[in-house]
Amino acid sequence: MKYSLIFAACLMLTACATTQTPLTARTEASGAERPPEQLALAFEHADLNLRIEPSSKTIRGDVTLTFQARSPLRRVLLDLDNHFTIDAIAADGTLLPATAWNNPDGRLSIELPRPLAAGEQVKVRVQYHGAPHVAKRAPWDGGFVWATTPDGQPWVASAVQGEGCDLFWPCIDHPQGRAKLVDQHITVPAPLVAAGAGVAMGMDEKDGWRTWHWRAKNPSTYGISINVGPYKLLSEDYRSRYGNTIPLRFWYLPTSEAKAKELLKEFPLILDFFESTIGPYPFADEKMGVVETPHKGMEHQTINAYGNEYAKTMYGYDDLLQHEFAHEYFGNQVTNANWDDMWIHEGLGSYMQPLYMQYLRGDQEYYASLMRMRAAITNTAPLVSGKPHTEEDVYDTKRGGPGQDIYVKGALTMHTLRELIGDKAFFKAVREEVYGTDHPQPGKLAPRYGSTPEFVNLASQASGQDLQWFFDVYMYQKDLPELLATPAGDRLSLRWKTENNKPFPMPVEVRVGNKIETVAMQDGTGSVALPAGATWTLDPHSKVLRRLEHIEAFQAYEKNKRKKS
Ligand SMILES: [Zn+2]
Repeated sequence: MKYSLIFAACLMLTACATTQTPLTARTEASGAERPPEQLALAFEHADLNLRIEPSSKTIRGDVTLTFQARSPLRRVLLDLDNHFTIDAIAADGTLLPATAWNNPDGRLSIELPRPLAAGEQVKVRVQYHGAPHVAKRAPWDGGFVWATTPDGQPWVASAVQGEGCDLFWPCIDHPQGRAKLVDQHITVPAPLVAAGAGVAMGMDEKDGWRTWHWRAKNPSTYGISINVGPYKLLSEDYRSRYGNTIPLRFWYLPTSEAKAKELLKEFPLILDFFESTIGPYPFADEKMGVVETPHKGMEHQTINAYGNEYAKTMYGYDDLLQHEFAHEYFGNQVTNANWDDMWIHEGLGSYMQPLYMQYLRGDQEYYASLMRMRAAITNTAPLVSGKPHTEEDVYDTKRGGPGQDIYVKGALTMHTLRELIGDKAFFKAVREEVYGTDHPQPGKLAPRYGSTPEFVNLASQASGQDLQWFFDVYMYQKDLPELLATPAGDRLSLRWKTENNKPFPMPVEVRVGNKIETVAMQDGTGSVALPAGATWTLDPHSKVLRRLEHIEAFQAYEKNKRKKS
């Protein structure tokens, strides 16, 4: 999701009362350590039959999940919000007695009728119904959004990044809980449209209900979403620079037609930026899909939620559309192995905005875009803890998480890395992180998991230098490095100051008079000649992210102003 609105969302949240029974702690958390029974499952297929009933704000689910056991297994453990009433559970077609399963707190435990040997498959069918958790202000808190369009028709969406897939279907709520194949059969009152992930397999209409069938390969767990409305569809085919053709699809509200047609013109521009800068669009054989939603936005694989209301900015592009699309690469193609590595989604994803600006417009927009993010860095906690984390552990600063720094500090760290090692090495490392290869070919790509230690290695290999020191300071420590500069006689002496005196051999440019000199700073110190009366500027081309007292003063001033108002 998009960082710039996090503040607004949090303020709104406290003002929003709700009458729902709260979620259990287990359901509210996403990405907690999986028990051995879940680690033993290879998730082959999910067949989701979901009937969406806007008039009663309820859903009815009939879900069949196919698993292969990696090791012997007596029971299947799934995650499902315990507010749903479970009507029946079957294993391989055999209806199980109600004593064989229970779901006290959101961990649905199912005793299998016979133990499963390693390599054997089981089909678990769960039928359930109820009112799914309603989001107070999606996407910052997750759940269903039961809205109506400007002309009064049902407009339904889900966004569950924070709480996970278990808010509306039985799943494994962990980034590594992806199913290899997901079929969605979404039933909605006619003539509503359900836009889904992957490829459109058809629609059947019967007794006033429409069932839309979608099939997606390897979608991310929170990438499975519900999008229902009186949609119209814009379709175009895009000829990729790699020779393949990519379907462009945009489901929009009929009341937005003129604006939707304008926005569609941005799709090919965004695609070509990513394909030329990073590599082939990972889901070209499915689609680049976008759907207009009642909530702001979310990176739902091949069906990105768009609720930016066609806003205009001085940069001349839709930053929300572009941000969510960045997640097709950073989030859906490469997925964090653990939420602790979430900066890979949001930091690299956010850095694609200034990069897009440099590509499309020029340096002014690149640096302006970076500056906006620079002013928002808070350094409340390290970006990466090195320990398994849930989504909340990362997003919630009150729980010691880095919060929005995964976006803004992540992006500025990538800018600094790019300046340090150069474009060739930087984009090679990023490409290998995204695809697992520097030579990605369309049609031969599969989503993968990435981690921070892996990226440290990739950047080190691509640049031919050990960059552990760089990541130690920028990602594993909270404070930014500070460049201390002291004029002494006819020299300007320089020293990097870091938290815990970590080594930081970061070269830095200094302008003295009209000359720019690069100081190697091998042992964290250095100096330049400073003739009497000469003017000087540290890092005149803004290459290095570092502590700046004036930004802290500005942030304190702004905070105080908000408090007063
Ligand atoms: Zn995002």
